[in-house]
Amino acid sequence: MPRLYSLHICAILWWFGQVLIGGAMSAAMIIEPDIQQKLAILGGEATDEVTDVPASQSIRQGIKHATGFIYNAKPEGGGVTRLFKVLQTNACKFSCPYCFTSCAIRRQRTSFRPDELATTFVSLQRARRVDGLFLSSGIVPDADATMEQMLATVERLRFKEGYTGYIHLKLIPGASFEYIERAVELADRVSLNLEAPNQARLNRLAPDKKFTESMWERMAWATRLMRRARQEGRPAARSLTTQFVVGAVGESDRELLETIQRAHRELGLWRAYFSAFHPIERSPLADQPAEDPTRALRLYQSDFLLRDYGFRYDDLPFDAQGLLPRDRTPKQAWAERYLVEPIEVNRAPRHVLLRVPGIGPRAVDKIIAARRESRLRDLSQLKRLGVNTGWAAPYVLLDGRATAVQLALW
Ligand code: SF4
Repeated sequence: MPRLYSLHICAILWWFGQVLIGGAMSAAMIIEPDIQQKLAILGGEATDEVTDVPASQSIRQGIKHATGFIYNAKPEGGGVTRLFKVLQTNACKFSCPYCFTSCAIRRQRTSFRPDELATTFVSLQRARRVDGLFLSSGIVPDADATMEQMLATVERLRFKEGYTGYIHLKLIPGASFEYIERAVELADRVSLNLEAPNQARLNRLAPDKKFTESMWERMAWATRLMRRARQEGRPAARSLTTQFVVGAVGESDRELLETIQRAHRELGLWRAYFSAFHPIERSPLADQPAEDPTRALRLYQSDFLLRDYGFRYDDLPFDAQGLLPRDRTPKQAWAERYLVEPIEVNRAPRHVLLRVPGIGPRAVDKIIAARRESRLRDLSQLKRLGVNTGWAAPYVLLDGRATAVQLALW
């Protein structure tokens, strides 16, 4: 008998438990997350796509870091700005296999209404926690509807909240011309993530996207609109950026940098960002190994060489597989192959000095200014001018003489 009673009690408790759990689950399904929960979800997922390049003195100027939904970025004018990086929605109709937000992965989906997101940003900005906004989004139900929501957020900020500060707005692949035009009018910077260097690689990385028609062409529209606004003296976005996922689908560094050089030339691309692939749990690429972040670092350094140092894509020291060396910078690898005669620092023109490892554009300016005053004769002078003398010494002459480090190495 006692055993029968206890079985009955267990059955009753189990039934109550099911009712409670079932009730809780259905409540969870119908209760909309509050603003704090949306912030945790949509801010967290937005920063998940941030690049994770290892710290390096040589490329410190290009590194971005994220803490929660606050993302430290470098604007054109220098310094660091704290951006509120957030998604309008983490719902997406696409299933790009590398992406955290992909519809192929079961997770809680939510969206900010434009008014909610605008007031959330304004309260963070007034509390001096952020300096600007970086707004991205999943794509649902289509590109135009997504941009409509994002632009409604930005319009509310600009025209109702009176916010005049920095806004970086992602362009959605496939969006109509009118939305790209409005984005360029309202934002300070626009970007569109190409993700892969060409259509063949994109077919595996983001099979629903068209490299030329839905992405490159939109970037070209943005560039034209920015240039026209500049010519007519109208306010508009000042720069265009893009981002690539590195190491997910076997693309080479050569393919990436060929596309980037073309984007600098044809689109006036301000800069490219690189995200070393890391597998997302439960995604189709979950079993694929993560890419070495050093590869992203070498790509950043190569992009700087193309953009700021006068290097051409053909100059870059690729191996037979089209990859850059990982154990030294691309400039060091180039110098080892081609810089056979040491450079006289007191005479060399700007573009030649820029080819020497350890000498960057700012150091070149200082060298040129300093040598107008007096001849440069020792490494300590170069060091004071911002040169990495450990790297530069083997490749330079100072007033006709090889440096002590150079003699020791040769
Ligand atoms: S379209 Fe964007 S958000 Fe959607 S799955 Fe692809 S990468 Fe992720």
